[in-house]
Amino acid sequence: MEITTFYDQWVILTGGMVAINCWLVTPGPFGGPAVSEGATRLPVVTATDAAEESCAAESLYPVDRLARARTAAAGAGLDGLLLTPGADLRYLTGYDAPPLERLTCLVLPSDGPGALVVPELELPRAAASPATDLAVDIVGWRETDDPFALVAGLLRDALDGGKPAAVGIADRMWAVQAMRLAAALPSARQVPASTVLGPLRMRKSAAEVDALRRAATAIDRVHEQLRGWRLVGRTELEVARDIADAILAEGHSRVNFVIVGSGPNGASPHHEASPRVIEHGDAVVVDIGGTTAEGYCSDSTRTYLVGDDVPTGFADLYAVLHEAQLAACAVVQPGVPVETVDAAARDLITAAGYGELFVHRTGHGIGLEEHEQPWVVAGNAEPLAPGMTFSVEPGIYLPGRYGARIEDIVVCIETGGERLNALDRNLVPLEG
Ligand code: ZN
Ligand code: ZN
Ligand code: ZN
Repeated sequence: MEITTFYDQWVILTGGMVAINCWLVTPGPFGGPAVSEGATRLPVVTATDAAEESCAAESLYPVDRLARARTAAAGAGLDGLLLTPGADLRYLTGYDAPPLERLTCLVLPSDGPGALVVPELELPRAAASPATDLAVDIVGWRETDDPFALVAGLLRDALDGGKPAAVGIADRMWAVQAMRLAAALPSARQVPASTVLGPLRMRKSAAEVDALRRAATAIDRVHEQLRGWRLVGRTELEVARDIADAILAEGHSRVNFVIVGSGPNGASPHHEASPRVIEHGDAVVVDIGGTTAEGYCSDSTRTYLVGDDVPTGFADLYAVLHEAQLAACAVVQPGVPVETVDAAARDLITAAGYGELFVHRTGHGIGLEEHEQPWVVAGNAEPLAPGMTFSVEPGIYLPGRYGARIEDIVVCIETGGERLNALDRNLVPLEG
């Protein structure tokens, strides 16, 4: 795709018929309402080749999402949403924007045209994203412009010059950006955008569940590979490096974490790989995950045994854990409170005398983020609904000795629950 820039007018992506979806919603001499202060506007005219490239991703990013987000924002009394790079922005626009110091921000008024504000140098990148298929103007700003004033102006324009009283800002917006937006919009109370977008993102579309299934299948293949490796005599770090390579080789574009907790290190749930040398008779907790090119995350834990010397008490502990994980998956059903899933695992573990050693919630939602709503924890009475995807990962940790965890991603379907990870959950002895 060839890009021609006409400064102060347009950035035109040549090579095809010109699509004018951005003009339809914001008519005006420069594709949108005049901005009284702030920055030069550099609207983008999108070419059909850009639109065609994004067609494959269309079903992952349906165009009605913006309307649903607007309705939800209005219902929450917000004048609009301001979303910087991250999962919320990608969810609504399909744009996987780099989270850098230059401001990228979707301005989505609850009532009025939306605009995606991007640094000029990233206009081609934004224009090549599925965002071009949406009724939002893509607006560039120059290095010497004030993008915060530009964002504020766009929001005020949508309110016909009125002062916004409340805006939802991305949960993961950098604090420095939130502060500058607060200064640019002093009338607007800032609330976390997750209050509005969390409930929408929690229920996945069929396309999203498929994307999560592909991620789960990819991480299953990594665990499967690992079962053929010899771990004894190697450090956790060395094994973790091989796992990271395999995560990428098996269809992820990013490695999110590699936990290799051998022996006593397995008793620390979020232990990361260390220089400890893996020994005979170690139990090894391997919790791994990445993000696929589609943007969806995998997260799966299996516990291994090095050699066939089972540490004292470990077989009993693992049998209880295995049963608890199964029980938690089995109660998944539309209408059941999320906390029931936690209770199903915890009650069994507690009854077996290990309750004090199960030190974390049973799971977390997963999607564009590896940890998102719903939280599978006591006190979360939110009813499960079809399309909700979350981890079921009870663990039992005996400090100084060993730990064990089993984790699958589960989707709530009309008739119950379905595990997206298919690899068996038996305690697997590796060659010692
Ligand atoms: Zn965790
Ligand atoms: Zn995990
Ligand atoms: Zn997890």
